[in-house]
Amino acid sequence: MPLIEFDSVSHAYAVSGGERTVLSDVSVSLTEHRIGVIGANGSGKSTFARMVNALVVPRAGKVRVDGLDTGREARAIRRRVGFCFTDPDAQIVMPTVAEDVAFGLRRHRLTKQEVAARVDAALEAYGLQEHRDHPAHLLSGGQKQLLALASVLVTDPDVVVMDEPTTLLDLVNARRVRDVVASLRQQVILVTHHLDLLDDFDRVLVFHDARLRFDGSPHEAVAAYQRLVL
Ligand code: ADP
Repeated sequence: MPLIEFDSVSHAYAVSGGERTVLSDVSVSLTEHRIGVIGANGSGKSTFARMVNALVVPRAGKVRVDGLDTGREARAIRRRVGFCFTDPDAQIVMPTVAEDVAFGLRRHRLTKQEVAARVDAALEAYGLQEHRDHPAHLLSGGQKQLLALASVLVTDPDVVVMDEPTTLLDLVNARRVRDVVASLRQQVILVTHHLDLLDDFDRVLVFHDARLRFDGSPHEAVAAYQRLVL
């Protein structure tokens, strides 16, 4: 699995009247297959996740993916690290389902036939084949989340970062997304409030007040999280 390194990472956002620290001196090396990230709202989880694919570059410290510095090599990083947003609407860029999945491959120097074959395989894998020519924005919330996953996974990244992908979904769709996540061979970083999704994860990080406060097994992490917030 790729090595993801956070080296003394701190970050703050400008807010009215000053700054708000969102990550404070985070150092961690991640090589496990499935890594969960939990913590209360505003604890810095999304910022941490966004740093892995260079959507946010830290003010202090470094984030590296297999030695590539996210501050210098954002394009190379994004070819290796896919990102799924909480709100899949934020990710839909093309009119139809099939075109949206194909969009991710635009820079992959593939022939039309190769693109078509990859898109068909992705649509099949995520149960979207019958919707291939439908307007993407008319899919249900669950289907949109699966489309977002398909659009990321069709590019065959080494790492998939997901920021609360099941938050907007009902039980059935959340379960479908969970099954997809369970089947991924890629390294997965999953930010979630649905703690049951993490049962068989290799490692879970707990953030609290901008700090990485616990790092361990899912069971211990959930207990640590409860101690911090309850
Ligand atoms: P979490 O995912 O744990 O809820 P975030 O990393 O999204 O935490 O955010 C931490 C804090 O930073 C929150 O209070 C949030 O409102 C704030 N924040 C996030 N993004 C920005 C931004 N682009 N500008 C200003 N404040 C932000």
